[in-house]
Amino acid sequence: MRVVIREVLNVGGFFAGETVTLAAQPWPDGGPEQTVTIDDAALTNVIARHLLAPGMILELQFAGDRVEQATLLGAPDYAGLRTAWRQPPILPTPTPRVLSFRCPACKVWAAATGDPPVCAVCGAAAPHS
Ligand SMILES: [Zn+2]
Repeated sequence: MRVVIREVLNVGGFFAGETVTLAAQPWPDGGPEQTVTIDDAALTNVIARHLLAPGMILELQFAGDRVEQATLLGAPDYAGLRTAWRQPPILPTPTPRVLSFRCPACKVWAAATGDPPVCAVCGAAAPHS
């Protein structure tokens, strides 16, 4: 499922384990907030769990009620995305590649996937520059 972070409730340290606990809402439909705890090891492309921030959009895969994988898809602004996102390795390409962009459809800074690049959140094509 996809969620948007509403609040970061706790970043676990030594005693609480290496987890981050979030209040999150289903994206993009909204709905009741839920508390989600993510283990550090489940973060697939986040540099460090304490860099997660309100407004970021995550794709969550559950195994039972445990989060098995959490992938950062987008953030409210460029700086937030670039701070937290471990971007895929940049391969040499003949033309400049779009790595992230402000998606006009979902109005977040989205990680770009694919070629031609599309929004990781909603799949809309990146605007041509
Ligand atoms: Zn989008």
